[in-house]
Amino acid sequence: MMPRLPSPNRIKTHYVYTVWEAAQALGRNRQTIIRWIKDKGLVADRGKVPWLIKGRDLKQFLGYRRAKSKTKLALHHLFCFGCKTPQEPDGKFAEYTQATPTTGMLKALCPSCASIMNKVVRRADLEAIRAKIEVAVQQANPRLVSLPAPPLNDTSAKEAQTDGKAHFR
Ligand SMILES: [Zn+2]
Repeated sequence: MMPRLPSPNRIKTHYVYTVWEAAQALGRNRQTIIRWIKDKGLVADRGKVPWLIKGRDLKQFLGYRRAKSKTKLALHHLFCFGCKTPQEPDGKFAEYTQATPTTGMLKALCPSCASIMNKVVRRADLEAIRAKIEVAVQQANPRLVSLPAPPLNDTSAKEAQTDGKAHFR
């Protein structure tokens, strides 16, 4: 899990922060702030060192990130890494495979780009999911139950080769 994002209220709108000051104010390390600037779209003046961040920009950035992380994925939606957005399974159909005694892997196709989407779900949530979409439950393979769930990002290549999954061809 990501640590909770600091509140934008810790930042003064009319103050200009160096990377170090921003890190201090937010209780994060400098690398995090630099990553926000380089990869996550935080606006900063990179004209000279130290980079300067306007309080207003930093506040806005934090507010946006918090709003984004609060948008909870609906139980029956899966995050599509192709579209970078949550999607309802194509044809409102998903497959559930028991992975541990209490959790399983939900698998479905993205309706807009046809990527395979995966999500770890709790067994206890399965009925609520089935109220929204059709779910084919695969019987747990006793040999697999003790294995950890596969990494979420690295399944599409392997899945494509799995046979007996005609629905996902
Ligand atoms: Zn997609």
